[in-house]
Amino acid sequence: EGRAAGERWCVFEPDMESRHLRKLQVTERLQSAISERQFSLLFQPQYDLQAQRVHSAEALIRWHDDVLGPIYPDEFIPLAESSGMITQITDWVFDESLAQLARWHRAGHSLGVSINLSARDILKDDFIDRVIARIDQGDVDPKWLMLEVTESAVVEELDHAVANLQRLYDAGVSLAIDDFGTGFSSLAQLKVLPVHELKIDKSFVLNLSMDLDDQKIVRSTIEMAHHLGLSVIAEGVENEASMQLLSSMHCNAIQGYFLSKPIASDDIMTWLSDFRMP
Ligand code: C2E
Ligand code: CA
Ligand code: CA
Ligand code: CA
Repeated sequence: EGRAAGERWCVFEPDMESRHLRKLQVTERLQSAISERQFSLLFQPQYDLQAQRVHSAEALIRWHDDVLGPIYPDEFIPLAESSGMITQITDWVFDESLAQLARWHRAGHSLGVSINLSARDILKDDFIDRVIARIDQGDVDPKWLMLEVTESAVVEELDHAVANLQRLYDAGVSLAIDDFGTGFSSLAQLKVLPVHELKIDKSFVLNLSMDLDDQKIVRSTIEMAHHLGLSVIAEGVENEASMQLLSSMHCNAIQGYFLSKPIASDDIMTWLSDFRMP
């Protein structure tokens, strides 16, 4: 009996088994994390190369679970998506980001905020309704709001996604295609998506100063975006050489460790006051 059970277990790779267990654990803890609001946000500055100032900051979620410890968004966001919990998280991120935005503005900083949306959010009409309601109520001027959407997010139900993005666009919200270059049929989607900005994925930027192919890809992406009337931000800018190259390619904005890692909301105002381009 015990031996048969042992044999049964042997058909699984132990690694697969523990990965599966971990997924179950994380998904289970996620629901209580949502109801108990165990998340926090960090904000990573975005620097406008023309205006030579920090004009915005991207909200990046963090989760510290009492039992499992810190869990990073690359692990739990996909699980939140597949288990249908993502929009509850996005609602929280949205509320918290608007609260922080109001604090920055009260302190006299003219800083916008970028928020990451998932595929599910864009396809949820009531999520879009809530965002537009908050704008209509005057809770936020949409000129301070950038929503980052991944390309893969809109592939599945393209017409529905485009219609909902158009509603946000019409409400005055700026939209960016996140991780540009890594998704499917990027160019085809560019034609139909109502967006203002491309965000070049960090995989093209991290080694920019060393990799001539990356330089060609980034340079032509920026040119194409500008021809289409879109602005361009590059993420993953880790050193001065990358920044200089992007500047010479007329990239509009940069984000990355060279300027700052994501920082706590309380610290961002001090950081802004102290900031000088390295
Ligand atoms: P993303 O939207 O592409 O965010 C950029 C990621 O790159 C962040 O990782 C950021 O900390 C990291 N990063 C920034 N600058 C540099 C750099 O110079 N070098 C390197 N190597 N990395 C840099 P993070 O915070 O771990 O987030 C990972 C992903 O999780 C995000 O990728 C995004 O897809 C997702 N995510 C994070 N917060 C949220 C959220 O509130 N909602 C949703 N739906 N997704 C989120
Ligand atoms: Ca993003
Ligand atoms: Ca990215
Ligand atoms: Ca991403």
